[in-house]
Amino acid sequence: MLLTENEAKFKFCPLLKTGDDKMKFCQGPMCMMWRWKDNEPGGKGWCGLSGSPLAASR
Ligand code: SF4
Repeated sequence: MLLTENEAKFKFCPLLKTGDDKMKFCQGPMCMMWRWKDNEPGGKGWCGLSGSPLAASR
């Protein structure tokens, strides 16, 4: 799923949890797993945990 950094901030991360076991939001480009489409920071990107989205690989 290609997202802007601001859109990603409102998606839950499958790895991050709070101290009381609630899900946390994606950290976007602050996370080592974040990938930018076409390696262009500031555009759209995705969480690299699940591989490349189809649209980004075209
Ligand atoms: S990019 Fe990082 S913080 Fe965002 S969902 Fe993926 S692993 Fe979680």
